[in-house]
Formats: sequence, structure tokens, C-alpha cells
Amino acid sequence: MTNKIRVTIWNENVHENRDEKVKEIYPDGMHAVIKAHLDKQGDMETRVATLDMPEHGLTQEVIDSTDVMTWWGHCAHAKVEDEIVERVKKRVLEGMGLIVLHAGHNSKIFHHLMGTNCSLKWREVGEKERLWNVEPAHPITEGIGEYFELPHTEMYGERFDIPTPDKIIFISWFQGGEVFRSGCTWERGHGRIFYFRPGHETYPIYYNENVMRVISNAVRWANPRFVQEHKCVNYKPLEKI
Ligand code: ZN
Repeated sequence: MTNKIRVTIWNENVHENRDEKVKEIYPDGMHAVIKAHLDKQGDMETRVATLDMPEHGLTQEVIDSTDVMTWWGHCAHAKVEDEIVERVKKRVLEGMGLIVLHAGHNSKIFHHLMGTNCSLKWREVGEKERLWNVEPAHPITEGIGEYFELPHTEMYGERFDIPTPDKIIFISWFQGGEVFRSGCTWERGHGRIFYFRPGHETYPIYYNENVMRVISNAVRWANPRFVQEHKCVNYKPLEKI
């Protein structure tokens, strides 16, 4: 047995194999950069799962031995098998933590857990983003200042069609004028979910130390305190009725 947080880093890993610009930034895939950062933490043990693996790398055995999963997908959401999505969702409801990154807002798993369209405005001109830390006492923002900036990003703008978050952790401002709820938390069943916006594949976002710090903080926050399979039980009274 290990006391380390068991993290499964899921990546669609399509752009990194197909687009020269992305390949240059992430020669071993985005998952490798995220993994290297989490491995440095000391309190986490990580593994990687990608779309092209059998069962997308998310066998029942992998799911059952995952405390927190991170999810990056963009152009191949539709290729993720419904059966696997159901498997991940069931485990979140039982207590597994889930961190949905960037274009994961349109993933099947995020849609299923939110129940809304999760649509937004977007634009890719490489503008500046300033992420305001609006919950400085939250574990996810530990070590993060009042704000941090990304010099070149894709813009995501409101309205972001999500259910009202339990907490809004970051609000982004973009050079073009839009704002966006960039870091949000929810609970579904026993599972904790964090959506974190940064991560467009054509910019080196996952080399930014603030972005990475937020991700490792979020892994610790989402680590389950309680895991239980859900069932409806016929329950005997404790007293004589
Ligand atoms: Zn993007």
C-alpha cells in the first residue's frame, strides 16, 4: 500500500502527433510535461493514459487504483467511447477527483458531470491573459499571488455555460476585453471536480510555473477522503416501530 496520491494523467495526445508546432512545444506529449511536474512533488505517483491505448488506457483496474484523474482533450472528444466515459463518471460519483483542463470543457465526461452545454466564446490570436486569484485562502491557490499572467494564450470568454460552481477560484481577463471563470470547483457524488482553463496546445502553457502549481495543488485538493459505491438499500429501522 502507498500513501501517495495515485494520479492518472489522461491525454487525447492527437495534436502532439499531428501538428508540427505542437510537436515542437511538447515533443513527448503534454502528458509528459504534466507527469514530470507531478512526479517532482514527492507525494504523488503518476501514470499516463492516452486515447490510442486499449480502453483509452482507462481499464477498470486503472480506474479502481486512481485517486485523481486529470483530463486533456480537444479535437477527438467524440472518439472517447461512451462506456469508458460512464466508467470514469461512476468513479467520480464514488469519490475519485477529476481535474478537467482547457478544451476538456467540451469532453463527454465534463458534459456528463455538469449536465449543461459547457459552451463558451473563443479566439486564437495569442493575446495576454491575466488570471485573478479570487480565493486566496483556498488550497488550490496555495503559493499563488493575487494574479498571474500568461503572455500569449487562446481566449475563452463568457458566457461559459456551466452550472453555478461551488467556488470560483480564478477569473481571467483577456487583452481583447473578455472575462472568464477560469478555475471552478464542483462536487458530484463524493467526487471533487476542478475545471482549469489554461492549456491551449500551441502555446507552452504547461511550462508556466503558476499553472503547474495550480494543477498540483488541485490534485491534493481533489484527493478523495471517502470512496463508496452508490446503491439504494432497503434499511431496517434502528428502533422498534
Ligand atoms: Zn485551445
